[in-house]
Amino acid sequence: MTELGTLKNYINGQWLPSAAGDVLSVNNPATGEVLGQVPVSPKDEVAQAARAAEKAFEEWRRVPPPQRVQYLFKLKDLLETHLEELAQTITQECGKTLAESKGELRRAIENVEVACGIPMMMQGTVLEDIASGIDEFMIRQPLGVAAAIAPFNFPAMIPFWFMPYALACGNTYIVKPSEKVPLTMQRIFELLDQAGFPPGVVNLVNGAKETVDAILEHPTIRAISFVGSSPVAKYIYAQAAAHGKRVQCQGGAKNPVIVLPDADRDMTTRIVADSAFGCAGQRCLAASLAVTVGEATEWFTDAIAHTAATRIVGDGLDPEVQMGPVITAQSQQRIESLIQTGADEGATVLVDGRNAHISTLEAGHFVKPTVLQNVSPSGEIAHTEIFGPVLGLMPVDTIEAAIALVNRSPWGNMACLFTNSGAAARQFRYEATAGNIGINIGVAAPMAFFPFSGWKDSFFGDLHGQGAHAVEFFTQTKVVVERWPQEWSRQF
Ligand code: NAD
Repeated sequence: MTELGTLKNYINGQWLPSAAGDVLSVNNPATGEVLGQVPVSPKDEVAQAARAAEKAFEEWRRVPPPQRVQYLFKLKDLLETHLEELAQTITQECGKTLAESKGELRRAIENVEVACGIPMMMQGTVLEDIASGIDEFMIRQPLGVAAAIAPFNFPAMIPFWFMPYALACGNTYIVKPSEKVPLTMQRIFELLDQAGFPPGVVNLVNGAKETVDAILEHPTIRAISFVGSSPVAKYIYAQAAAHGKRVQCQGGAKNPVIVLPDADRDMTTRIVADSAFGCAGQRCLAASLAVTVGEATEWFTDAIAHTAATRIVGDGLDPEVQMGPVITAQSQQRIESLIQTGADEGATVLVDGRNAHISTLEAGHFVKPTVLQNVSPSGEIAHTEIFGPVLGLMPVDTIEAAIALVNRSPWGNMACLFTNSGAAARQFRYEATAGNIGINIGVAAPMAFFPFSGWKDSFFGDLHGQGAHAVEFFTQTKVVVERWPQEWSRQF
């Protein structure tokens, strides 16, 4: 299924060609090579997947949870066996380094492992004798058909924040991967097929906006999990709600890290550089602003500039390379133009990654690590998600001023602090208005057994992806009040 050609959809346990009129190219962002074509599946193909999932739900919800998770154990085994090959596919279509692709896959697998605990996680509650001889139960039942709409930057991991939990809870599922990176999910669906899920339980529908709109409107689809940029997240949230669906939408970010003067210099520089430039800055948990306090400004500025300027950029398949390309030529142009905006707003371009040329990769989309010094707190660069390897520096005098900057931001995906002081760490953890907090951590990505807790304009909804939140999202509670008078059983 993954050879060059137009990708198929996986519906009701079968690989089906799409009748889409609109077909998009999938390109390797490091080389420009065309890897395949992806159809923008039309409305009736979404409806076909929804019907298959609705039909499969009737049986799947009756499969006991300890048996449902046997399919996930098989899937984990298959993902482990094919990890190297999947990592290559991620790197080829998404650009990140092989080590980053493997890290992403580990996170995907971790979610499968956690969902295997569903016989415990899905349990309800019981209270005997809510009144004399009357008991009350709260049980969790699956919703029906649910769907995920995914972004380009983690082609394997992000659908796994949702899918394993949805399936383990007894729902049936539809995945719509990003049209920029559909090959990884295509290969993962071949593995889902091998894992032996009954037809219709998991379905793959390729596409873009037209396909998403069909998912939003389809009456059978009960719940939607979205991850992507905030303007689209807001749209999905509003549309899904208007169509009566349960919805969770994780959006964009502009993540600050605060560096205090007492922070460990080498560790802080290394970790902040990895956060800002890892995955070419295309992570929703990338550090994009470093707020340096007092004396930290001098040493951190010199150290981060040196680290940025010496990072090895190239094709992520090359084991020497530390940073790959950005996803498209448009993305490269947008990032370069935002660097110019930063300069126009008064920042100094201390390390300039524009006009990057990597020999033998002339058709690739590269922006090298960039450091903007003295970013204006009121300017566009302080607030716009760049989604590229660009770190803005903002000096302040006190930790209070730094926390105030963090809290003024409309975003709330992540905020980090680098310090040796427990009291400063506590103050920051207590006061910062972001949902994922790092203390001497640069990418505070929650493990699968914690919720991925974006706040403010980085998240629309209440229940997040992963862990117990996902179980709650993919189930509806039923409360049973039960009375069995003693005299009715006297005959026995
Ligand atoms: P995107 O919003 O462009 O696309 C995400 C998905 O929405 C894709 O499947 C796409 O086909 C679909 N889509 C795009 N435009 C649409 C429209 N107008 N109507 C309906 N559907 C549409 O995002 P992207 O560029 O693929 O991913 C990068 C963004 O995702 C960044 O903003 C990043 O911060 C965010 N992100 C957030 C998290 C998080 O956990 N908060 C994680 C990863 C990425």
